[in-house]
Amino acid sequence: MRHHEVLVVGAGLAGQRAALAAVEARRDVAIISKLHPLRSHSGAAQGGINAAVGKEDSIDTHIYDTVKGSDYLGDQDAIEFFCREAGPTVVEMEHYGTIFSRAEDGSLARRPFGGQGFPRTIYAADRTGLALLQALWERLGTERFTLYQEWDLTQIVVREGRVQGVVAFDRRTGQFEGIAAKSVVIATGPAGRIYGRTTNAHTCTGDGIAAAYDAGALIKDLEFVQFHPTALLESGILITEGARGEGGILKNALGERFMGKYAPHVLDLASRDVVSRAIVTEVREGRGFPGDFVHLELMHLGKERIETRLQEICDFCRNFAGVDPVVNPIPIFPAQHYMMGGVGTNIRGETNIAGLYAAGEAACVSIHGANRLGGNSLLETLVFGKQAGLAAATYAASASAPQLNDSDVADAEAPVRRMMSRTDGEDPQAIRTAMQRTMDQYVGIYRTESDLLEGLRQIRAIQKRFEQVRVVDRSNVYNLNLTDALETGHMLELAEVIVVGAFARTESRGAHSRVDYPSRDDAHWMRHTLARKTPDGPNLTYAPVGYTRWEPKERVY
Ligand SMILES: Cc1cc2nc3c(=O)[nH]c(=O)nc-3n(C[C@H](O)[C@H](O)[C@H](O)COP(=O)(O)OP(=O)(O)OC[C@H]3O[C@@H](n4cnc5c(N)ncnc54)[C@H](O)[C@@H]3O)c2cc1C
Repeated sequence: MRHHEVLVVGAGLAGQRAALAAVEARRDVAIISKLHPLRSHSGAAQGGINAAVGKEDSIDTHIYDTVKGSDYLGDQDAIEFFCREAGPTVVEMEHYGTIFSRAEDGSLARRPFGGQGFPRTIYAADRTGLALLQALWERLGTERFTLYQEWDLTQIVVREGRVQGVVAFDRRTGQFEGIAAKSVVIATGPAGRIYGRTTNAHTCTGDGIAAAYDAGALIKDLEFVQFHPTALLESGILITEGARGEGGILKNALGERFMGKYAPHVLDLASRDVVSRAIVTEVREGRGFPGDFVHLELMHLGKERIETRLQEICDFCRNFAGVDPVVNPIPIFPAQHYMMGGVGTNIRGETNIAGLYAAGEAACVSIHGANRLGGNSLLETLVFGKQAGLAAATYAASASAPQLNDSDVADAEAPVRRMMSRTDGEDPQAIRTAMQRTMDQYVGIYRTESDLLEGLRQIRAIQKRFEQVRVVDRSNVYNLNLTDALETGHMLELAEVIVVGAFARTESRGAHSRVDYPSRDDAHWMRHTLARKTPDGPNLTYAPVGYTRWEPKERVY
């Protein structure tokens, strides 16, 4: 049995920032990560990170834009804290060595992003996530901590009302091991692979959210799923909002710049839920191109600007879609992009379980409410990663020794051994694909009662199939057939939480758009969904939204 004081699960921006805060608080810290830290999905972030540092901008405007963007479901107290931390956080990352792009006068360059009053998204060309991740990894590397690289969390052990540690396995040996810890920070990132059409990496499978749900944590607002308006047609690869921030425009098959109908003031730079719905509406009403897509045009920006500011986008378009954005329009359609929901926390990263913390995309504070603004998520990983790390360190400083036993490890391993010893049953890939198809078809951008009921029926039937999942590969070394099965099981649990929450929420708010309940209903639904696991599926309760000074208004862009 291994022992640490603070165990961080995940080595993306949120996990690394949490670990750094806990190390600086002089605790014995370990990180487990199923990937090399620099391969975390944070490294795929293109567009940038928000901070109201411009002269014409203000922290209050950033707060207001975020509250409005959230469709008034974001907790205003948390958003105020978050936006105040933005400037110092970006400056700190610059001091750690992040190479941000510069304006002519040498100040930090900023680009406009959707749903925001001013250009406030600071960037490193279109590789902002990687620039941040590398700088933070270098900074963390100067400290002492233990890294369990290519280890997969499978279970969080909670007894006597508090965390005792986790069970994980080492991909290199297939060995299951217990890691006792006084506090555990879940920073396992996105769960986008629940959907087939997504901008998320194949590794974004919601493992930590599912493990927390199994351990009794409350999962908040998971029905709010963000679809990014501009993903490349076939592959779903993201074309950053920065492309529209630089001046890119959307056109339908009639050559019309259609956003004027949906967002008369800010056009293509409305918030993501608004632009995604507009694209789907254009296509459904017959104004899309054959094959169901619309165009994103950059040509008018000129070769030099496109190739310097959107270098990586050029490569993606040329290599994956065979189009050159300097001379051709880019074929795009929305794809799943981000989960507003996650493990419910407060601004210190505390969950409903003593010793369990969460941060980053796996968590829901909530600052994004029903719809996240671009550029706010990278910022969230750093602001709340630090808070969760600090709180986990403080808790560990006074907590008694955790009790993790060999039987905890055996209990976590038993179902895995069953999967591996089955002689008949289904391959995890077939089950994963069935889940993704169901979620794409029935739980997408526009939702109805009948679709959600059918989606739920199918997800529960697929869960039944998963009970007989079979891992054909019996080897212990890098058994990807096994990780596939474990990840699929995690995603199926979360898919059910999404559908049940979406079915219950009889209103339209932010990214949750019910055709049968088209209006926002503040009287009944200005509240957070909390899902707790029971043997009969998710049990839902509701919690009030944190409110300070911004009156709910109709959201117009
Ligand atoms: C293509 C793309 C572009 C984006 N662009 C932007 C942008 O420009 N601006 C912005 O603000 N946001 C952007 N986002 C969103 C933002 O990048 C993410 O929300 C954020 O980086 C998530 O960080 P994280 O630390 O929470 O998770 P991640 O960076 O995904 O890290 C998760 C970590 O958890 C580990 N892990 C997962 N499961 C397990 C397990 N079972 N056991 C052990 N370890 C595990 C992984 O190894 C990884 O280290 C983008 C997202 C995508 C997908």
